[in-house]
Amino acid sequence: MQVVTDPLALQADCLARRRRGERIGFVPTMGYLHRGHTSLMELARPRCDHLVVSIYVNPLQFGAGEDLDRYPRDPEGDRAACERAGVDCLFMPTDLYPPGHSTRVRVEGLTAGLCGASRPTHFEGVTTVVARLFGLVQPDVAVFGEKDYQQLAVIRRMVRDLAMPIEILGGPLIRDDDGVALSSRNAYLDEDQRRRARSISRALAWLADAVAGGEVDVATLLARARARLDVDRIDYLEIVDPDELQPLARISGPARALAAAWLGRTRLIDNVALVPPSAHR
Ligand code: AMP
Repeated sequence: MQVVTDPLALQADCLARRRRGERIGFVPTMGYLHRGHTSLMELARPRCDHLVVSIYVNPLQFGAGEDLDRYPRDPEGDRAACERAGVDCLFMPTDLYPPGHSTRVRVEGLTAGLCGASRPTHFEGVTTVVARLFGLVQPDVAVFGEKDYQQLAVIRRMVRDLAMPIEILGGPLIRDDDGVALSSRNAYLDEDQRRRARSISRALAWLADAVAGGEVDVATLLARARARLDVDRIDYLEIVDPDELQPLARISGPARALAAAWLGRTRLIDNVALVPPSAHR
């Protein structure tokens, strides 16, 4: 496995491979890798000749007072995980942006609600870094997790709107044995918080069951699901349509429930597909 730190060296290598006809796959991450991340690598691996994984904790997507400085890091463990997953190139830049970097990429509409409402600069940071990474790696296919459901929708929109010739694949959300969505941020939780974190995935699973059982009134569903959350603060709990992410009043087709909640100083997100009985017919 190659380990590359210089952005332009990475670009030169990827461009040369493309000219030779190699198909490039790409999984961008912020490191502290877990099975959620490696599941994306497994999805990408058979779809490309050369698999690039990036690890970069992108300051642009953290707001003031967020956890940029304490974000967990484990470069040696990450390197070993990438080796095991059959990654060809691990890109770990120290400086990703060139001096004087002043371009921002912003997707409107889709970024207004949910995480965008409580983290107003977050998605602009995400689309800006992903656009630069795409310019460096020039991937044919890039894989993102449904764990960050809104992010996946925003990236798909950016790629469509900017006519980037890249296939975007979404990978399923991977959970721990107790149902908690795997996240690098779970490392922040103490034992009690970790136990209470289960209430998030359980409330979402309850919603999925209730919708499968025929409940269609969103206000009723959300009130009952909220009562199941044992967290310090709910950032949001919403039911939206799966493409435009607009809040629904009634469920008449496939939908998505998304939640963000705080346990102490840790903000966790999770989501689940909602499929009413009518959608099975
Ligand atoms: P991050 O390192 O948190 O920026 O995540 C990098 C990529 O891994 C993103 O596409 C995430 O959606 C994805 N990811 C993180 N956690 C999970 C998970 N539990 N299941 C599936 N994908 C995940």
